Amino acid sequence: MVTITGFETRDVRFPTSLDKTGSDAMNAAGDYSAAYCILKTDVGCEGHGMTFTIGRGNDVVCYAIPYLAERIKGKTLESLVENWGKTWRYLVNDSQLRWIGPEKGVIHLALGAVVNALWDLWAKVLGKPVWRIVADMSPSEIVSLIDFRYLTDCLTPEEALAILEKAQEGKKDRLQEALENRAVPAYTTSAGWLGYGEDKMRGLLEETLGQGYKHFKLKVGGDVEGDRKRLTIAREVIGYDRGNVLMVDANQVWDVQEAVTYMNELKEFRPWFIEEPTSPDDVLGHKKIKDALAPLGIGVATGEMCQNRILFKQFLAASALNVIQPDACRLGGLNEVLAVLLLAAKYNVPVVPHSGGVGLPEYTQHLSTIDYVVVSGRKSVLEYVDHLHEHFARPARVENGHYVTPSEPGYSVEMKRESMDRWAFPGEEGVSWWRSDEARVILEGEKI
Ligand SMILES: [Mg+2]
Repeated sequence: MVTITGFETRDVRFPTSLDKTGSDAMNAAGDYSAAYCILKTDVGCEGHGMTFTIGRGNDVVCYAIPYLAERIKGKTLESLVENWGKTWRYLVNDSQLRWIGPEKGVIHLALGAVVNALWDLWAKVLGKPVWRIVADMSPSEIVSLIDFRYLTDCLTPEEALAILEKAQEGKKDRLQEALENRAVPAYTTSAGWLGYGEDKMRGLLEETLGQGYKHFKLKVGGDVEGDRKRLTIAREVIGYDRGNVLMVDANQVWDVQEAVTYMNELKEFRPWFIEEPTSPDDVLGHKKIKDALAPLGIGVATGEMCQNRILFKQFLAASALNVIQPDACRLGGLNEVLAVLLLAAKYNVPVVPHSGGVGLPEYTQHLSTIDYVVVSGRKSVLEYVDHLHEHFARPARVENGHYVTPSEPGYSVEMKRESMDRWAFPGEEGVSWWRSDEARVILEGEKI
């Protein structure tokens, strides 16, 4: 028996705004950050979960985490995972905390950290990576991980079970592919940030092409002429007929009609999809954009800011997207992501999890492996940004254009202690970078 005796939160921020890593049309200067929940136990083993933000406000998420972690303190791991669906419902069911959601916003980001910390702990106790726990479960065990409230008009537990049973066929071969690091092809956004100059962009495209990448994503939405210039460079490097795929991402800057007009200006570059063309809450708006762009052969994707499974249900039921992009910790942890993977399988829409952030590739490598091996049986592509992995105890890695399937126990987001201390916010004098003079340019600079 393992008892959860307490927890710790950590506010960790990296000053990525200094070199514009992560910059896009909406987020000009993000500092990639993680709000951690670290569960403590009576056996010494810890569970590490985090959620991702881009700087200011990370402390607000850290403030919310204890409200949820307190609900599992004193309980045994075994009692919590015995009926995971029930535990998840219990975690979202504090009526007073629910009022400041429900199941969205800061309280839901905090939930993602707590739920994933519990998965990390469980995986370490079992001695397996998280994806493998799910891959070793029977279809009915997987169904029991999910809270189906608000889903049953589109996906019942019986339908979910049928999807998983059907996916048993060929599962053994797909599992073998996962063990040989061939289950999850990667795509790169490294060259695509809006704040990068043309030379840096061209250099990074050439470099990533040389590394075996076939899918490349660029930020757009700043201005049409600038975007046409950048996409021209991208197509010069990756070509049109060499099997390389281009994607573009507008990070929500447009109105619905504006998105359609703008994308018509970029159609000759033949992107596979436009990501986040408009507000992530606008189901019907996405449907309009999708219908308007279909004749151009351009798809529509969103999901990194979809707040919960209910919104994904609407997007899918309305046939408003060509690709969905759930986030591992904006949703309420793995259990809610599994619900979304099953919804996507039912509506036959590919899943390309959102990974553009610190710690996100570490999480999503598990999600895409689960999707391929256990749920959809369909190989997708998974975003990989080559930043900040050195801070993780067991970082995500890409080789030969594929993610190396995680083999170490846990959910892979445990950060090295020295990195946590060095980048702690506001941190300790003499230890944290944020206390140094170098940080003043951010701390005292304009908030954009
Ligand atoms: Mg994006």
